[in-house]
Amino acid sequence: MSIDKFANMISECNNIVFFGGAGVSTESGVKDYRSKDGLYNTVKDYGVPPETILSIDFFKDFPDVFYDFYRKYFTSEAEPNKAHKALAELEEMGKLKAVITQNIDGLHQKAGSCNVIELHGTAKKFYCHSCNKTLELDEIMAEIKAGQVPKCKYCGGLAKPKVVLYGEMLYDGVAESAIKHIANADMLIVGGTSLAVQPAASFVRYFRGKYIVIINKTATDFDNNADLVFRDSIGTVFEEVMKKVK
Ligand SMILES: [Zn+2]
Repeated sequence: MSIDKFANMISECNNIVFFGGAGVSTESGVKDYRSKDGLYNTVKDYGVPPETILSIDFFKDFPDVFYDFYRKYFTSEAEPNKAHKALAELEEMGKLKAVITQNIDGLHQKAGSCNVIELHGTAKKFYCHSCNKTLELDEIMAEIKAGQVPKCKYCGGLAKPKVVLYGEMLYDGVAESAIKHIANADMLIVGGTSLAVQPAASFVRYFRGKYIVIINKTATDFDNNADLVFRDSIGTVFEEVMKKVK
């Protein structure tokens, strides 16, 4: 049984790193703008694809459209699912050392994970694009939900989520930290991503440990390197394996 093998690998390892993508969040009901529906609806509603709206130039030129899109996709109050909870539990047990995620929804922290490396930043923090001051999340969210373009209360500048937009670099130290954790891990679990987004996808190539496990509903370019591949719901796989991990 693959689940038994997976459980044995987890039991054997104490320096596990999880690398996750959108598929981890969609099982919490977070809308994925990269899905077929997301893409279709965005082009229908705005005349441009999501990647255009989520670019730094578009943000500066059309903040009203940017925040209308943002309200639709990034302000929902989702709850962590069984995958998020299992990862937090594995960290608590001392087995898992880091969660590296391409998601910006903060659900890993909400589940209790402490060492979370957010490659693309977080929708849960805002700062002023003019004066750079940190802005209060609740105040900014209230403005966005009211259909306004959120502004800095200090200087009136445009508020920006601490999210890496297209055309922006990853934040300082984030890539290095992700690579360091992957290079030192004894086990790498990749979940909810087809590993199509660069540079994030290239990070998994730094792994030199014992076991690679991939949990994704569709094939990935990395499947041939894996010791185990689950083409299944990530929440279900984690729920089953956690029953057997000692
Ligand atoms: Zn400001």
